[in-house]
Amino acid sequence: MEFRLAKRMSNLKASEIRELLKLAEMPEIISFAGGMPAPELFPIKEMELVTKKVLEDQGKLALQYGPTEGYRPLRKIIAEQRMKKSGVNADENNILVTSGSQQGLDFTGRIFLDKDDIVICESPSYLGAINAFKAYEPKFVEVPMDDNGMIIEELEKALSENPTAKFIYTIPDFQNPTGKTLSVDRRKRMVELAEKYNIPIIEDNPYGELIYEGDVLPSIKSFDKNGIVVYLGTFSKTFCPGLRIGWVCADKEILSKYIIVKQGADLQTNSMSQREAAIFMENYNLNDHINKIKEVYKKRRDLMLETMKQEFPENCTFTYPKGGLFTWVTLPEGLDAAKILEICLKENVAFVPGGSFFPNGGHSNHFRLNFSNMTEEKIVEGIKRLGKVLRSL
Ligand code: PMP
Repeated sequence: MEFRLAKRMSNLKASEIRELLKLAEMPEIISFAGGMPAPELFPIKEMELVTKKVLEDQGKLALQYGPTEGYRPLRKIIAEQRMKKSGVNADENNILVTSGSQQGLDFTGRIFLDKDDIVICESPSYLGAINAFKAYEPKFVEVPMDDNGMIIEELEKALSENPTAKFIYTIPDFQNPTGKTLSVDRRKRMVELAEKYNIPIIEDNPYGELIYEGDVLPSIKSFDKNGIVVYLGTFSKTFCPGLRIGWVCADKEILSKYIIVKQGADLQTNSMSQREAAIFMENYNLNDHINKIKEVYKKRRDLMLETMKQEFPENCTFTYPKGGLFTWVTLPEGLDAAKILEICLKENVAFVPGGSFFPNGGHSNHFRLNFSNMTEEKIVEGIKRLGKVLRSL
């Protein structure tokens, strides 16, 4: 059968790297490829009790359809606890519960993008966002970063050269894939620029609460006085990704567009999951749980970076993330991380080659390493294996 597919499908191809990375799931491979939390830290015992309580106390509602906007007590908790922690004054009417923040990304594409519209993003950026937006056939203008995130002068240049761009997409905290953080001063300046050029900012912030030094930084949205920032949040990295609970926090007018497309996409986020998340947070302190996670990840980060310092050749550089899950390695120009991955897989160690994080291609001399998902023992062994390959090139 030759299916008459939509033209947009030609933009959406399964990448060769994805095929290669399937190998990384084999048990003998030490994989730094995924972006997954450590499963041994999931609150399984607590969730057992919570799930029972949800079914006993509100089973009929938990298994029934619910409002598109989400379970009101959960929206209230998100506004009053999570958004407040990043400096945002919001109430439940500013919150739409989504199926992970990935759904918020897809909806952003659906709401803002027609074919050939321009998206301004960091160079490199989150692969899942690039792919979600690509379904709507935009063009990407990549803004270079330094150690303090997007370079503001370069952002202004991109905005003045592309006055009709639809939005700025940014991951300000411990970015995926680089681990870099946008400085607080630049957050203020980004909002000023967005106002000057009349363009919304899509702030995607899954990692902000996983900060290993100091307090949570004020989000870009916390500097937003005119409703120009749409904030995407999630419990995937701080709680349980399998529940698929994320949210959009925005002013009511733009939020209403997200609610309309949510109705068309899936009517509502899972009623049971939303209640499980809410009841967990009513009975336990999520901040205590996050502190436990942070302690383990900080140790893993320190160990990975220390081992990389010892094992990697001097011509490889890498970032020192202050939070989140990733470090970003830069190899000498001319080396291709996708080819190196093939060699590494034979040594039973894996990472994600960096090229696919650049929507316009190029930059194959980078790769991303995750430090949250492997035990300390495997981190040391895996980095040693990687170091051996890198030194042999
Ligand atoms: N944004 C970024 C930057 C991410 O890294 C991820 C997960 N890897 C997501 C969004 C999507 O997360 P979820 O749908 O699980 O909330």
